Amino acid sequence: MRILPAALAACLLSTAAPVLAETLVIHADGVIADADSAPLGRSTVTVTDGRIVSIVDGWAEVPEGAQMVHLEGKTLVPGLIDLHVHLTGDPGGDFWRGATEPAEWGVVVGAKNAEKTLKAGFTTVREAGSAQHTAFALRRGTAEGVIQGPRIVAAGPPLAIVGGHGDVSGFLPEVNEILSSGYSCTGAVECAEKARRASQNGADTIKITATGGVLSQQGRGLEAHFTDAEMKSIADTAHSLGLDVMAHAHGARGIEAAARAGIDTIEHGTYIDEAAAKVMRERGTYLIPTLMAFKGVTEGLGKGIYTPVVEEKIRAVADTAQVFMGKAHRWKVPIAFGTDAGVFDHGRNAEEFALMVGQGMSDREAFASATTVAAKVLRMENEIGRLAPGYSADIIAVEGNPLEDVTVLEDVDWVMVRGRVAD
Ligand SMILES: [Zn+2]
Repeated sequence: MRILPAALAACLLSTAAPVLAETLVIHADGVIADADSAPLGRSTVTVTDGRIVSIVDGWAEVPEGAQMVHLEGKTLVPGLIDLHVHLTGDPGGDFWRGATEPAEWGVVVGAKNAEKTLKAGFTTVREAGSAQHTAFALRRGTAEGVIQGPRIVAAGPPLAIVGGHGDVSGFLPEVNEILSSGYSCTGAVECAEKARRASQNGADTIKITATGGVLSQQGRGLEAHFTDAEMKSIADTAHSLGLDVMAHAHGARGIEAAARAGIDTIEHGTYIDEAAAKVMRERGTYLIPTLMAFKGVTEGLGKGIYTPVVEEKIRAVADTAQVFMGKAHRWKVPIAFGTDAGVFDHGRNAEEFALMVGQGMSDREAFASATTVAAKVLRMENEIGRLAPGYSADIIAVEGNPLEDVTVLEDVDWVMVRGRVAD
């Protein structure tokens, strides 16, 4: 055991002095602890120091000194999880703003969007790509309660091929170079280095753009852009650091190659076919369908929001977007909830549920995809995604039963994250 200098030891002792526990008691007319449990009736949930300590039948007495929240007519459900958001951006921004807006502006936009997202009932989000340290700053801000917002699991800048989706394109060569995040890579060795760099700089997860993308200015299709060797290198390196990899992927062969390389989640997955689905199923690769992204960009067509190259790509994916998740579901690919908020207005995240049900998921499955299943994807299934003693007090209140009609989650009346009530 290390010997502590006396001054430090004294300091540790003083901070270890007992702090009065903060207890909050919630009375509600129903509780849905998780997607697999039968709804409970009138209940009392007790929260101490940010954690659920008990859920009991009926409205229990409130102990002295405890705060009390009375939610008559409401049902408590676990806070929702969105595995794909971009808090630091709003939809419809001209691509050249990348050359005129500093990264710091993203933190301001992100603070606004974090609050919107929380009030929509999302108590945990995975930040799927942002400029440099902006998402990490937000992550700290919500964790420490400096700003209101969900718990943030952040990727930071995505790894991309040079000039591909996630890197910079559409400017003069010298401008492209200046604007690049520094996370593009070529070859297995450099890609491994960039994955380590992302980890060093604070990434909780590694985001890569495995194929071309719809909203970037590059017009090189939607198929695989990284080589198999590069993707395997990124996956192996990330896993050796205890990090998962999320891969933006549209084209079928790009999806299949990413899953085969050991990537953990496929974001979008638009052109998934049976061969790609088979590899995903065998490897346990999750699909994060982001159906709201397709809806959002389609709503913006023909309004002069997008450049011609982007308009063409949006039109090309519009029909497939209506059916691909349903196919993946029938092929038994594991599916978890993610929206790509930022491509459409933040706060509309829960509209994704209706789109999932529209493609053949049951209400219960859709609810699970944003709670227990999403928690499992984040390897946080012992912390979030259900209401149980010992879990983080991430709780929302709604009217109605999301197991029978998941769209009741579009209207959230009350939100608590890590034991803190959103105002
Ligand atoms: Zn995205």
